[in-house]
Amino acid sequence: MELARRVAHMCGTGGNGWELLIRARGMIAAGEPVTMLSIGEPDHKTDPMILAAMAQSAASGHTGYTEIQGIRALREEIAARVTARTGVPTGPEHVLVTPGGQAALFTAHQLLLDPGDAGLFIAPYYATYPGTIRAAGAEAREVVALPQDGFQPKAAAIRAAAPGAKTLLINSPNNPTGVVYTPETIADIAAACEAEDLWLISDEVYETQVWEGPALSPRALPGMAERTVVLGSLSKSHAMTGSRIGWMIAPEAVVQAGFELALNSTYGVPGFIQDAALFALRRGASFEAAVAAPFRRRREIVRRVLGQVPGLRLIPPSGAMYAMLDIRETGLSGAAFASRLLDEEKICVMPGESFGAPAAGHLRIALTLEDAALEAALIRLRDFAAALLR
Ligand code: PLP
Repeated sequence: MELARRVAHMCGTGGNGWELLIRARGMIAAGEPVTMLSIGEPDHKTDPMILAAMAQSAASGHTGYTEIQGIRALREEIAARVTARTGVPTGPEHVLVTPGGQAALFTAHQLLLDPGDAGLFIAPYYATYPGTIRAAGAEAREVVALPQDGFQPKAAAIRAAAPGAKTLLINSPNNPTGVVYTPETIADIAAACEAEDLWLISDEVYETQVWEGPALSPRALPGMAERTVVLGSLSKSHAMTGSRIGWMIAPEAVVQAGFELALNSTYGVPGFIQDAALFALRRGASFEAAVAAPFRRRREIVRRVLGQVPGLRLIPPSGAMYAMLDIRETGLSGAAFASRLLDEEKICVMPGESFGAPAAGHLRIALTLEDAALEAALIRLRDFAAALLR
Protein backbone atom coordinates (compact mmCIF):
# COMPACT_ATOMS: atom_id res chain seq x y z
CA MET A 1 0.00 0.00 0.00
CA GLU A 2 1.35 3.40 -0.96
CA LEU A 3 1.14 6.67 0.91
CA ALA A 4 0.05 9.86 -0.77
CA ARG A 5 3.02 11.89 -2.03
CA ARG A 6 1.93 15.02 -0.15
CA VAL A 7 4.00 14.59 2.98
CA ALA A 8 7.12 13.44 1.15
CA HIS A 9 6.81 16.57 -1.01
CA MET A 10 6.33 18.72 2.09
CA CYS A 11 9.46 17.36 3.75
CA GLY A 12 11.74 18.18 0.82
CA THR A 13 15.27 16.92 0.94
CA GLY A 14 15.81 17.59 4.66
CA GLY A 15 19.01 16.56 6.45
CA ASN A 16 20.34 20.02 7.26
CA GLY A 17 21.93 19.89 10.68
CA TRP A 18 19.13 18.59 12.84
CA GLU A 19 21.11 15.39 13.37
CA LEU A 20 23.21 17.38 15.85
CA LEU A 21 20.18 17.89 18.09
CA ILE A 22 19.39 14.21 17.92
CA ARG A 23 22.99 13.39 18.84
CA ALA A 24 22.87 15.81 21.81
CA ARG A 25 19.65 14.25 23.07
CA GLY A 26 21.24 10.82 22.76
CA MET A 27 24.22 11.98 24.84
CA ILE A 28 21.87 13.34 27.53
CA ALA A 29 19.94 10.06 27.55
CA ALA A 30 23.28 8.28 28.08
CA GLY A 31 23.94 10.46 31.14
CA GLU A 32 26.34 13.01 29.66
CA PRO A 33 26.01 16.59 30.98
CA VAL A 34 25.18 18.45 27.75
CA THR A 35 24.37 22.18 27.95
CA MET A 36 21.55 22.87 25.53
CA LEU A 37 21.67 26.29 23.88
CA SER A 38 19.53 25.03 21.04
CA ILE A 39 15.97 25.13 22.34
CA GLY A 40 13.55 27.79 21.09
CA GLU A 41 11.25 27.55 24.07
CA PRO A 42 11.06 29.66 27.24
CA ASP A 43 12.85 27.80 30.02
CA HIS A 44 10.25 28.79 32.58
CA LYS A 45 6.86 27.15 32.83
CA THR A 46 3.38 28.57 32.27
CA ASP A 47 2.40 30.87 35.13
CA PRO A 48 0.36 29.02 37.83
CA MET A 49 -2.38 31.67 37.68
CA ILE A 50 -2.90 30.93 33.98
CA LEU A 51 -3.05 27.22 34.79
CA ALA A 52 -5.57 27.93 37.55
CA ALA A 53 -7.76 29.84 35.06
CA MET A 54 -7.48 26.87 32.70
CA ALA A 55 -8.43 24.37 35.42
CA GLN A 56 -11.31 26.52 36.59
CA SER A 57 -12.65 26.83 33.06
CA ALA A 58 -12.49 23.08 32.54
CA ALA A 59 -14.03 22.35 35.96
CA SER A 60 -16.89 24.73 35.24
CA GLY A 61 -17.73 22.78 32.11
CA HIS A 62 -15.95 24.46 29.18
CA THR A 63 -14.91 21.04 27.94
CA GLY A 64 -17.25 20.52 25.00
CA TYR A 65 -17.05 21.58 21.37
CA THR A 66 -16.68 25.29 21.13
CA GLU A 67 -16.81 28.02 18.51
CA ILE A 68 -14.56 26.85 15.70
CA GLN A 69 -13.30 30.32 14.82
CA GLY A 70 -12.52 30.97 18.51
CA ILE A 71 -14.71 32.18 21.37
CA ARG A 72 -15.93 35.71 20.83
CA ALA A 73 -14.40 37.20 23.99
CA LEU A 74 -10.95 35.94 23.03
CA ARG A 75 -11.28 37.16 19.45
CA GLU A 76 -12.33 40.56 20.76
CA GLU A 77 -9.36 40.67 23.11
CA ILE A 78 -6.92 39.73 20.31
CA ALA A 79 -8.55 42.23 17.95
CA ALA A 80 -8.21 45.01 20.55
CA ARG A 81 -4.55 44.09 21.00
CA VAL A 82 -3.91 44.29 17.26
CA THR A 83 -5.82 47.57 16.97
CA ALA A 84 -3.73 49.08 19.76
CA ARG A 85 -0.51 47.84 18.17
CA THR A 86 -1.23 48.86 14.58
CA GLY A 87 -3.79 51.66 14.79
CA VAL A 88 -5.79 49.77 12.16
CA PRO A 89 -9.36 49.05 13.28
CA THR A 90 -9.49 45.29 13.83
CA GLY A 91 -12.57 43.37 14.94
CA PRO A 92 -13.32 39.79 16.01
CA GLU A 93 -14.34 39.06 12.40
CA HIS A 94 -10.66 39.48 11.47
CA VAL A 95 -9.45 36.87 13.97
CA LEU A 96 -9.13 33.11 13.65
CA VAL A 97 -7.94 31.37 16.83
CA THR A 98 -5.63 28.46 15.99
CA PRO A 99 -3.81 25.67 17.84
CA GLY A 100 -0.54 27.66 18.04
CA GLY A 101 1.33 29.93 15.66
CA GLN A 102 2.39 26.91 13.60
CA ALA A 103 -1.23 26.08 12.79
CA ALA A 104 -1.75 29.75 11.86
CA LEU A 105 1.25 29.52 9.49
CA PHE A 106 -0.13 26.33 7.97
CA THR A 107 -3.63 27.78 7.66
CA ALA A 108 -2.47 31.00 6.02
CA HIS A 109 -0.53 29.16 3.32
CA GLN A 110 -3.36 26.67 2.72
CA LEU A 111 -5.73 29.60 2.22
CA LEU A 112 -3.54 31.68 -0.06
CA LEU A 113 -1.55 29.24 -2.20
CA ASP A 114 -2.59 26.74 -4.86
CA PRO A 115 -0.51 23.92 -6.31
CA GLY A 116 1.72 25.44 -8.97
CA ASP A 117 2.02 28.78 -7.17
CA ALA A 118 5.19 29.84 -5.43
CA GLY A 119 5.37 31.09 -1.84
CA LEU A 120 8.34 33.26 -0.87
CA PHE A 121 10.13 33.10 2.46
CA ILE A 122 13.21 34.84 3.79
CA ALA A 123 16.37 32.86 4.49
CA PRO A 124 17.72 32.37 7.15
CA TYR A 125 14.38 30.91 8.14
CA TYR A 126 12.51 29.15 10.92
CA ALA A 127 12.73 25.41 10.32
CA THR A 128 9.13 24.74 9.33
CA TYR A 129 8.74 27.53 6.76
CA PRO A 130 9.57 25.70 3.52
CA GLY A 131 7.55 22.64 4.54
CA THR A 132 4.56 24.76 5.48
CA ILE A 133 4.58 26.35 2.02
CA ARG A 134 5.13 23.04 0.22
CA ALA A 135 2.25 21.50 2.21
CA ALA A 136 -0.04 23.72 0.11
CA GLY A 137 1.40 22.07 -3.02
CA ALA A 138 3.33 25.23 -3.82
CA GLU A 139 6.98 25.83 -4.57
CA ALA A 140 8.82 27.23 -1.50
CA ARG A 141 11.09 29.91 -2.93
CA GLU A 142 13.87 31.45 -0.88
CA VAL A 143 14.68 35.17 -0.72
CA VAL A 144 18.15 35.61 0.70
CA ALA A 145 18.85 38.12 3.50
CA LEU A 146 22.61 38.57 3.81
CA PRO A 147 24.77 38.81 6.94
CA GLN A 148 26.43 41.95 5.54
CA ASP A 149 22.97 43.58 5.45
CA GLY A 150 22.41 42.62 9.09
CA PHE A 151 19.99 39.94 7.76
CA GLN A 152 17.52 42.68 6.75
CA PRO A 153 15.77 41.53 3.57
CA LYS A 154 16.05 43.82 0.56
CA ALA A 155 13.18 44.83 -1.72
CA ALA A 156 15.24 44.10 -4.85
CA ALA A 157 15.74 40.48 -3.77
CA ILE A 158 12.02 40.10 -3.06
CA ARG A 159 11.07 41.57 -6.42
CA ALA A 160 13.58 39.40 -8.27
CA ALA A 161 12.03 36.27 -6.73
CA ALA A 162 8.42 37.41 -7.14
CA PRO A 163 7.44 36.25 -10.67
CA GLY A 164 4.91 33.44 -10.20
CA ALA A 165 4.71 33.95 -6.43
CA LYS A 166 1.54 34.79 -4.50
CA THR A 167 2.78 35.14 -0.93
CA LEU A 168 5.74 36.40 1.04
CA LEU A 169 6.39 35.14 4.57
CA ILE A 170 8.41 37.34 6.92
CA ASN A 171 9.31 37.07 10.60
CA SER A 172 10.32 39.94 12.84
CA PRO A 173 11.61 39.76 15.56
CA ASN A 174 13.38 36.97 13.76
CA ASN A 175 14.17 33.37 14.52
CA PRO A 176 16.99 32.42 13.97
CA THR A 177 18.88 35.73 13.63
CA GLY A 178 17.56 37.72 16.62
CA VAL A 179 17.17 40.68 14.25
CA VAL A 180 14.22 43.09 14.29
CA TYR A 181 13.37 44.48 10.86
CA THR A 182 13.76 48.25 10.76
CA PRO A 183 10.74 50.39 9.85
CA GLU A 184 12.52 51.07 6.53
CA THR A 185 12.80 47.35 5.84
CA ILE A 186 9.11 46.83 6.67
CA ALA A 187 8.15 49.76 4.41
CA ASP A 188 10.30 48.35 1.57
CA ILE A 189 8.77 44.90 2.00
CA ALA A 190 5.27 46.37 1.94
CA ALA A 191 6.06 48.37 -1.20
CA ALA A 192 7.49 45.26 -2.89
CA CYS A 193 4.33 43.31 -2.00
CA GLU A 194 2.16 46.03 -3.48
CA ALA A 195 4.27 46.28 -6.63
CA GLU A 196 4.31 42.51 -7.14
CA ASP A 197 0.75 41.93 -5.88
CA LEU A 198 1.81 39.54 -3.10
CA TRP A 199 0.04 38.59 0.08
CA LEU A 200 2.28 39.39 3.02
CA ILE A 201 2.25 36.84 5.83
CA SER A 202 3.85 38.43 8.88
CA ASP A 203 4.90 36.00 11.62
CA GLU A 204 4.94 38.12 14.77
CA VAL A 205 5.12 35.40 17.42
CA TYR A 206 8.07 37.21 19.08
CA GLU A 207 6.29 40.59 19.19
CA THR A 208 6.79 40.97 22.97
CA GLN A 209 10.55 40.36 22.77
CA VAL A 210 11.89 43.56 21.27
CA TRP A 211 15.12 44.89 22.76
CA GLU A 212 15.79 47.52 20.13
CA GLY A 213 12.91 48.77 18.12
CA PRO A 214 10.50 49.88 17.09
CA ALA A 215 9.11 46.60 15.75
CA LEU A 216 6.61 47.77 13.18
CA SER A 217 3.80 45.48 12.05
CA PRO A 218 3.21 45.82 8.30
CA ARG A 219 -0.52 45.74 9.03
CA ALA A 220 -0.03 49.28 10.36
CA LEU A 221 1.02 50.66 6.96
CA PRO A 222 -1.52 52.40 4.73
CA GLY A 223 -3.31 49.98 2.41
CA MET A 224 -1.54 46.91 3.83
CA ALA A 225 -4.31 45.50 6.07
CA GLU A 226 -6.12 44.10 3.03
CA ARG A 227 -3.10 42.11 1.80
CA THR A 228 -1.49 41.22 5.14
CA VAL A 229 -2.03 38.18 7.32
CA VAL A 230 -0.53 38.50 10.80
CA LEU A 231 0.33 35.42 12.83
CA GLY A 232 0.48 35.51 16.63
CA SER A 233 0.93 33.08 19.48
CA LEU A 234 1.00 32.89 23.26
CA SER A 235 3.84 30.35 23.13
CA LYS A 236 6.68 32.83 23.60
CA SER A 237 4.87 35.88 25.01
CA HIS A 238 3.23 33.95 27.86
CA ALA A 239 5.41 30.81 28.07
CA MET A 240 2.48 28.69 26.87
CA THR A 241 4.15 26.53 24.21
CA GLY A 242 2.33 23.36 25.28
CA SER A 243 -1.11 24.98 25.35
CA ARG A 244 -1.02 25.29 21.55
CA ILE A 245 -2.79 28.60 21.16
CA GLY A 246 -2.25 31.28 18.56
CA TRP A 247 -4.12 33.29 15.94
CA MET A 248 -4.31 34.60 12.44
CA ILE A 249 -5.41 38.19 11.70
CA ALA A 250 -6.64 38.68 8.16
CA PRO A 251 -9.31 40.24 5.97
CA GLU A 252 -12.73 38.80 6.74
CA ALA A 253 -12.93 36.61 3.60
CA VAL A 254 -9.64 34.94 4.54
CA VAL A 255 -10.82 34.31 8.10
CA GLN A 256 -14.06 32.85 6.72
CA ALA A 257 -12.06 30.44 4.55
CA GLY A 258 -9.95 29.66 7.63
CA PHE A 259 -13.13 28.75 9.46
CA GLU A 260 -13.97 26.23 6.72
CA LEU A 261 -10.47 24.75 6.91
CA ALA A 262 -10.66 24.47 10.71
CA LEU A 263 -14.14 22.93 10.47
CA ASN A 264 -12.61 20.13 8.41
CA SER A 265 -9.35 19.77 10.31
CA THR A 266 -8.88 20.87 13.92
CA TYR A 267 -12.51 21.67 14.75
CA GLY A 268 -11.22 24.54 16.85
CA VAL A 269 -9.18 24.96 20.01
CA PRO A 270 -10.33 23.58 23.40
CA GLY A 271 -12.54 26.06 25.27
CA PHE A 272 -10.56 25.84 28.51
CA ILE A 273 -7.34 26.68 26.63
CA GLN A 274 -9.06 29.68 25.06
CA ASP A 275 -10.32 30.83 28.48
CA ALA A 276 -6.78 30.53 29.84
CA ALA A 277 -5.49 32.53 26.87
CA LEU A 278 -8.08 35.24 27.52
CA PHE A 279 -7.02 35.39 31.16
CA ALA A 280 -3.36 35.51 30.11
CA LEU A 281 -3.86 38.33 27.61
CA ARG A 282 -5.87 40.34 30.13
CA ARG A 283 -2.91 40.30 32.50
CA GLY A 284 -1.52 42.96 30.21
CA ALA A 285 1.81 44.36 29.14
CA SER A 286 3.54 44.19 32.53
CA PHE A 287 3.05 40.43 32.67
CA GLU A 288 4.41 40.07 29.14
CA ALA A 289 7.41 42.22 30.05
CA ALA A 290 8.08 39.93 33.03
CA VAL A 291 8.01 36.84 30.77
CA ALA A 292 10.40 38.56 28.36
CA ALA A 293 12.72 39.91 31.08
CA PRO A 294 15.07 36.89 31.31
CA PHE A 295 15.79 37.11 27.58
CA ARG A 296 16.43 40.83 27.81
CA ARG A 297 18.94 40.15 30.62
CA ARG A 298 20.60 37.27 28.78
CA ARG A 299 21.00 39.34 25.66
CA GLU A 300 23.22 41.60 27.77
CA ILE A 301 25.19 38.57 28.94
CA VAL A 302 25.78 37.47 25.31
CA ARG A 303 26.84 40.95 24.35
CA ARG A 304 29.25 41.12 27.28
CA VAL A 305 30.83 37.72 26.65
CA LEU A 306 30.79 37.51 22.84
CA GLY A 307 30.37 41.09 21.68
CA GLN A 308 34.05 42.12 21.54
CA VAL A 309 35.96 38.95 20.66
CA PRO A 310 38.47 39.40 17.80
CA GLY A 311 37.60 36.94 15.02
CA LEU A 312 33.99 36.47 16.13
CA ARG A 313 31.14 38.70 15.03
CA LEU A 314 27.98 38.85 17.07
CA ILE A 315 24.98 39.89 14.99
CA PRO A 316 23.50 42.55 17.30
CA PRO A 317 20.57 40.71 18.92
CA SER A 318 17.69 43.19 18.82
CA GLY A 319 14.78 40.84 19.53
CA ALA A 320 13.55 37.28 20.18
CA MET A 321 15.35 34.72 22.31
CA TYR A 322 18.32 34.06 20.04
CA ALA A 323 21.74 35.40 19.18
CA MET A 324 23.62 34.69 15.94
CA LEU A 325 27.37 34.43 16.00
CA ASP A 326 29.52 34.61 12.87
CA ILE A 327 32.38 32.12 13.32
CA ARG A 328 33.64 32.09 9.72
CA GLU A 329 37.08 33.35 10.69
CA THR A 330 37.72 30.12 12.60
CA GLY A 331 37.82 28.42 9.19
CA LEU A 332 35.09 25.98 10.21
CA SER A 333 31.56 25.72 8.90
CA GLY A 334 28.77 26.28 11.42
CA ALA A 335 28.05 22.56 11.27
CA ALA A 336 31.67 21.54 11.91
CA PHE A 337 32.07 24.08 14.72
CA ALA A 338 28.82 23.01 16.39
CA SER A 339 29.72 19.34 16.07
CA ARG A 340 33.12 19.83 17.68
CA LEU A 341 31.61 22.07 20.37
CA LEU A 342 29.23 19.28 21.25
CA ASP A 343 31.97 16.63 21.32
CA GLU A 344 34.66 18.65 23.08
CA GLU A 345 32.71 21.06 25.31
CA LYS A 346 29.35 19.26 25.59
CA ILE A 347 27.54 22.40 24.44
CA CYS A 348 24.80 22.16 21.83
CA VAL A 349 24.09 25.15 19.58
CA MET A 350 22.35 25.12 16.22
CA PRO A 351 24.57 25.38 13.14
CA GLY A 352 23.53 28.32 10.95
CA GLU A 353 23.36 25.99 7.95
CA SER A 354 20.22 24.39 9.39
CA PHE A 355 18.42 27.71 8.77
CA GLY A 356 19.54 28.11 5.17
CA ALA A 357 22.65 28.99 3.19
CA PRO A 358 22.89 32.69 4.18
CA ALA A 359 23.48 31.65 7.80
CA ALA A 360 26.34 29.29 6.86
CA GLY A 361 29.35 29.82 9.10
CA HIS A 362 27.16 31.09 11.91
CA LEU A 363 25.80 29.59 15.10
CA ARG A 364 22.37 30.21 16.58
CA ILE A 365 22.55 30.44 20.34
CA ALA A 366 19.21 30.14 22.15
CA LEU A 367 19.07 32.20 25.34
CA THR A 368 16.82 29.67 26.99
CA LEU A 369 19.08 28.71 29.86
CA GLU A 370 19.28 30.23 33.32
CA ASP A 371 21.66 33.24 33.47
CA ALA A 372 24.67 31.83 35.34
CA ALA A 373 24.71 28.57 33.38
CA LEU A 374 24.32 30.52 30.14
CA GLU A 375 27.23 32.79 30.97
CA ALA A 376 29.46 29.85 31.92
CA ALA A 377 28.61 28.06 28.66
CA LEU A 378 29.22 31.20 26.58
CA ILE A 379 32.63 31.67 28.18
CA ARG A 380 33.54 28.09 27.27
CA LEU A 381 32.27 28.64 23.74
CA ARG A 382 34.32 31.84 23.46
CA ASP A 383 37.48 30.11 24.71
CA PHE A 384 36.90 27.19 22.35
CA ALA A 385 36.60 29.63 19.42
CA ALA A 386 39.66 31.61 20.60
CA ALA A 387 41.75 28.43 20.57
CA LEU A 388 40.67 27.77 16.97
CA LEU A 389 41.47 31.34 16.00
CA ARG A 390 45.01 31.23 17.42
N1 PLP B 1 7.16 31.07 14.13
C1 PLP B 1 8.41 31.13 14.61
C2 PLP B 1 9.36 32.10 14.00
C3 PLP B 1 8.83 30.30 15.65
O1 PLP B 1 10.09 30.40 16.12
C4 PLP B 1 7.90 29.38 16.19
C5 PLP B 1 8.33 28.45 17.26
O2 PLP B 1 9.47 28.32 17.63
C6 PLP B 1 6.60 29.34 15.66
C7 PLP B 1 6.26 30.21 14.64
C8 PLP B 1 5.56 28.40 16.14
O3 PLP B 1 5.25 28.59 17.48
P1 PLP B 1 3.92 28.05 18.14
O4 PLP B 1 3.28 27.09 17.18
O5 PLP B 1 4.34 27.38 19.41
O6 PLP B 1 3.07 29.24 18.37
